[in-house]
Parts: sequence; C-alpha cells; structure tokens
Amino acid sequence: MSLLHVVSISGGKDSAATAILALETQPRESLRFIFCDTGNEHESTYDYVRYMESHLGIQITTLRAEFSRQIANKREYILNKWPAKGVPQADCDRAAAAMVPTGNPFLDLCIWKGRFPSRRAQFCTEQLKTLPATEHQLDLIDSGQCDAVWSWQGIRMDESYSRQSRMHISGHMCRYFGEQGAGIYTYRPLLRWTAFDVFEAADCYGLKPNPLYLQGMTRVGCMPCINAGKDEILEISKRFPGHIDRVEMWEIAVAASSKRQEASFFPDPDRDAHLNKRGIRNVVQWSKTQRGGQLVDFIRVFDEPKACESAYGLCE
Ligand code: SF4
Repeated sequence: MSLLHVVSISGGKDSAATAILALETQPRESLRFIFCDTGNEHESTYDYVRYMESHLGIQITTLRAEFSRQIANKREYILNKWPAKGVPQADCDRAAAAMVPTGNPFLDLCIWKGRFPSRRAQFCTEQLKTLPATEHQLDLIDSGQCDAVWSWQGIRMDESYSRQSRMHISGHMCRYFGEQGAGIYTYRPLLRWTAFDVFEAADCYGLKPNPLYLQGMTRVGCMPCINAGKDEILEISKRFPGHIDRVEMWEIAVAASSKRQEASFFPDPDRDAHLNKRGIRNVVQWSKTQRGGQLVDFIRVFDEPKACESAYGLCE
C-alpha cells in the first residue's frame, strides 16, 4: 500500500518541529507539506513559511478555503426567507447587499455566518483549517497518488492548561495515532514534547523561530486569534496596530451582513458591567486596564515594547 505523509504547517514552533521530525524519519518522496492560510495571519508568518521552504528544501502547498457559493446561497436565503420571519425589509436588503465575497477566507467565513467565531462556536478552525486539509488529503487518495495518508499534526499536551485539561477530561486528541476514515490517519508525534523540545529540534536544524515569538507572542496563528487573552490583545495593539485597524474594518463588514447589524471580533470582556465593551476598540481599551476593567493601568499602557519579549527564553 502506498502511503503519503502530509504535514500541516502553521508557521509556529510545533509544526516546525513536526516537519523536522518527518524529514528525519520518513523518505523525502513520501512527504507533503501544507499551510492553511486563514487570511488572518501576520505578515511575518507568511514570510516564515517561505523561509521554512528555502531552509529545509521543501515545498509547502498553501490551501485557502473558499466561501463564495455559501455566501451566494445565504444571500438568496436572506431575500427569500428573512421577510417571512418578520425581519424588516430594510434589514433584509442591507444584509443581502453585504453578502459579497472578498476573497479573504476568514472574512468571507464571517460574512457567510453573519458573525465572528467564538470560544463556544469555534467554527473557524474547522472551516479554515480542518476541512481544507482533509479535502486536500482526500484528493491525494482519489487522484491515485497514494492509498492512504498519515496526517501529521504538531499538537502538544502542555501547550496550554486548558488544552491539557480538555484532553484529559474528554480523551479527545490524546492519542498519538488514530483512524479518521477514508484512508486518512492522524499522527501526533509531539504529544508529550515540551516547548523546549520543539525549539531545540528546530535549533538542531539551524531553523530560526518565527520572529513573532521574539515580540511577545506566545503562539503563532491568527493575528489576532479569537482566543487571545488580555495581555496578548494589548501587545498586538502596541506592536501591530494595523491588525487592530483591519479587525475594525472587518467588524463593520460582518455587522452589515448580520441580522442585528452588530458584530464584535471579541465578546464583551466585562459581561456583568453596565458598559457595553463590544467592538475591537473597546476591547483594546479594556486590555489597558487593571483587573476589574475600570482603572487604566498606565504602566501597562506606556511600557514600551522591548526588542525581544520571548516567553520561551529565545533572547540569547
Ligand atoms: S488561530 Fe484562533 S482564530 Fe485562527 S482559526 Fe484557530 S481558533 Fe480560529
């Protein structure tokens, strides 16, 4: 049976170590590398993926989800069904007019859904990463390039406390190897690796870390990720204000496509307070405050970003 190893690259430290492990242990001709571009990545991540290609001598195929068909269907649905559900005609017309694909996967996904993903409804991972990767792997099998695919994923248990407890409670993603079906198998060789292990593996290959790790980011992925914490939001607003501006534009576009004409990238961080802090600008303001969200913490606000803020001790 012919087998291909498909390694998912995110531009982060774990997928870099996974790529190196695959190169160390499998024949080169059996390896394929993919990068699922969400359209919400930092420019350093795009550069880093190209750097990985040249440094490791590999080719990384970029996959981008596409939602123009879903947006067209939603437009029809709005025009035909919303009025019967009691939605004012002006709101139907406004939302239908906003149903226009932009070509950016993350934004188009949110326009289609009429909302941003959230911790409880984290549809971004499935739509922007899992499904495109699975379709690509099925194509490899259907086109006769192989009989089976091992899908290599750089997931580590100690990546975060919440992930660790989720894994322990549910058993989900706790196994090194599992069958997905249709000839696809999941392989997670880094489950018990530490952050130190993955940086060391890259170092052995002379592979530099994504520069975002040297700029206070603890993980590399969407910029920002919907799961970003208070400190990370503040750090992004100080270092990469252009990404905050972009999210603000996205909030306008997604709000126009939603029934309530409202969309916030992050939820209201202070649900119990009388102030409505929805919207990226309000969330950035909140990220500058002390615990409790009322007093501005001037040390946090005016502390200049240092040249290197790596949480992984990569400064030297
Ligand atoms: S990195 Fe965050 S925002 Fe991006 S797809 Fe994953 S969960 Fe969603």
